[in-house]
Amino acid sequence: MRIHVIGCSGSFAGPRGAASGYLLEHEDESGRTWRVLMDLGSGAFGPLQSVIDPADLDAVIVSHLHPDHYLDLTGLEVFWAYHQRDDLPQLPIHAPRPLPERLSAVLGRSGNIPAGVDCEPFDHHVLEDRRRFSIGPFDILVREVLHPVEAYGFRITAGDTVLTYSGDTDTCAALDELAADADLFLCEAGYIEGRDDRFSGVHLTGLRAGQAAVASRARRVVLTHIAAWTDPEVPLAEARSVYDGPLELAAPGAVYELDRADRAA
Ligand SMILES: [Zn+2]
Ligand SMILES: [Zn+2]
Repeated sequence: MRIHVIGCSGSFAGPRGAASGYLLEHEDESGRTWRVLMDLGSGAFGPLQSVIDPADLDAVIVSHLHPDHYLDLTGLEVFWAYHQRDDLPQLPIHAPRPLPERLSAVLGRSGNIPAGVDCEPFDHHVLEDRRRFSIGPFDILVREVLHPVEAYGFRITAGDTVLTYSGDTDTCAALDELAADADLFLCEAGYIEGRDDRFSGVHLTGLRAGQAAVASRARRVVLTHIAAWTDPEVPLAEARSVYDGPLELAAPGAVYELDRADRAA
């Protein structure tokens, strides 16, 4: 499995990158490459186009309906609806139930069909806690996590490798289950200790992300969703104080390759 960081800025696009967006790729046994987009927040549709032709996407999964995780789906919808190719199938999108009405509201229309086209560009699927489904070679387990709105984390298996994505969450048992023994734990660390102590049930700090990595015995951790006003070295040091495995910060353009050799190591 290959993971491209499209954007990883927390809560809003930052001066050096877009909000959340990750592209997952994996080749099936016939050699066909499958491409799943995971979140497409503020500003992320631009850099996505520098990594792939979005027309090559097979599906999209959306952790929750905060703008830093879904807003640029409006751009992807325009792209899909009005593309010169007329053989694009509906694009499957797995997201919380209100997504279609949110997109229509942002786009200022009634109904889900863009003007001038015959059908909805997206094929909407509703996420629920403990749902499990497949997209080509990807097996995806969904768990509801702890955030002020309906929000999900994902445990994604492809071949012999496991990626866990926290989405946005504070500490919760579902997160530890999702990340159990994961090859790569892409974990948000939107808060830092002290400054953000007045909030609970919203984001992890670097310390709490590290504690989740320890509890789940994740093999490798990438911290993400750090906002522009936070020195990323702070949450990194917090996580390092409790987790002694491979640990780094996500960065726009980073690519992670997970393979069986990692698993055996
Ligand atoms: Zn967020
Ligand atoms: Zn959020």
